[in-house]
Amino acid sequence: MKGLMMHRPLKIADIITFAADTYPSSEIVSVRTEGDIHRTTYKETSARISKLAHGLRKLGIGEGDRVATLAWNGYRHFELYYAISGIGAVCHTINPRLSAEQMIYIVNHASDRLLFTDVTFLPIIERLRPHFPDDLRVVIMTDRAHMPETPLDGALCYEEVLEGEASDFDWPDFPEDQAAGLCYTSGTTGNPKGTLYSHRSTVLHALSQCVTIPKTLQEGKRILPVVPLFHVNAWGLPYGAPLSGASLIFPGGALDGKSLFDLMDREKVYSAWGVPTVWLGLMNEINQRGRLPEGFGDIVVGGSAASRSLIEAFEKMGVNVCHAWGMTEMSPLGTQCNLPPEMADLPFEKRVDRKQSQGRRVFGVDMKIVDDEGRRLPHDGKTSGHLYVRGNTITEGYFEDPEATNQVFDKEGWFCTGDVAAIDPAGFLLITDRSKDLIKSGGEWISSLDLENIVMSHPGVANCAVIAVPDAKWDERPLLIVVPREDAQPQKEDLLGMLAERLAKWQVPDDVVFVDQLPLTATGKVSKLTLRKQYAEGGEA
Ligand code: AMP
Repeated sequence: MKGLMMHRPLKIADIITFAADTYPSSEIVSVRTEGDIHRTTYKETSARISKLAHGLRKLGIGEGDRVATLAWNGYRHFELYYAISGIGAVCHTINPRLSAEQMIYIVNHASDRLLFTDVTFLPIIERLRPHFPDDLRVVIMTDRAHMPETPLDGALCYEEVLEGEASDFDWPDFPEDQAAGLCYTSGTTGNPKGTLYSHRSTVLHALSQCVTIPKTLQEGKRILPVVPLFHVNAWGLPYGAPLSGASLIFPGGALDGKSLFDLMDREKVYSAWGVPTVWLGLMNEINQRGRLPEGFGDIVVGGSAASRSLIEAFEKMGVNVCHAWGMTEMSPLGTQCNLPPEMADLPFEKRVDRKQSQGRRVFGVDMKIVDDEGRRLPHDGKTSGHLYVRGNTITEGYFEDPEATNQVFDKEGWFCTGDVAAIDPAGFLLITDRSKDLIKSGGEWISSLDLENIVMSHPGVANCAVIAVPDAKWDERPLLIVVPREDAQPQKEDLLGMLAERLAKWQVPDDVVFVDQLPLTATGKVSKLTLRKQYAEGGEA
């Protein structure tokens, strides 16, 4: 028997109209490329989104058209998220740190019709324009007074697209599985692959995020997404924040520790979200000033594993660390590690132990671990296997890429994450490695993450990475690459000795390389691929 309840399609535009009605004065604060701070509210933003939607229609954008953005975190980028999807088109966020080759590939693969860019990235567009589709038009995200000189034909000014348009919009209905957003993963091999989010997956992800991280996502709280709007929808915050009434503080392009500290202090940011490398920078600044930014109480850290020393440093200062795991293909949230009440009173060390895990799954994400033959492995906290997921917020195939799609689903339709993990009986996920980052020495696996965690606890180490290097006798051996802290000179013997105390002898690397910095991927993670090319394969990185 069918239930007798209304069926209204889940639509992204409903989030912002809801926020405008219910949390009209919750704020969006942005550090602008124009150099100042811009303040607005969900109510005012909702009106501007309507104007932008009218403007997009006038520029000929219709349902299913792809509209690209190349921009920092700011209110105009946020407006684009809603206006583009609201009219049934697809918001294609581009990561400005991609190589020219990758950017050319994805703009053409997506057949983008319009490209909105921050002034900062205009030189990139001017250089690559000849390689983009002929009919692509460029809109520069600023006002008339700040429009730069550009050789681009017919470049438009963002504020002029909105000018004179009506501040309300009758958002159309369409099926809830209509495409809304497109984000390419930079990938380690082959071409970038596009994840195509729908209205349904986006709204469900936002709801799930709000019930899973309720202490942060609530009215009155101020959240800083350092995680960029150009990568996996800034982990869903542009949707979760307005849905819950939380205010958003957008940092623009200044992501160094000092700029973040100043912004957080001034704007009384409660919770900040981003990858571990960003938090290392902020922690340095906190140490130098000897205090936390005012009002700061929480970080969400993900994108790569949070080291024990990072978790300890923040928790010791009273900042709650929520370690989260996810993927572009998962919208992205899969698990989060806020502890259940019964663990709140655990001794400090035990709580940190727990927080090193990636935590428990969010509603709607099922997880299984399997062996090389696809047989299910127990959730005993000890057995590691290939991690697979399924759910309403997980991709069912890459955008117009059947070949890549064929490689990532098992016979039961589960998506292969490429991560290796254990799951304990209480449901806590522990990522032990990426399949391709594992080190296999003499037939035994060595987890690079375990080694990195130990080394990061050395006071003289700012950052580190462990990679596999080929070895005639053992196939592969681990190599430790270390970035020392500015004022420190950690010794090779000390670091290896530290590892020898905690690990079996064969798991300890044979050598340590000291470097000034580690190469980063387009999403700010340490690029092990580049390191392997440099040290393991002896090639050009
Ligand atoms: P991306 O799609 O670029 O966001 O990358 C997703 C991948 O980042 C995952 O498959 C993991 O390998 C890694 N990752 C994300 N969060 C974590 C985490 N908390 N701990 C360990 N690895 C992570």
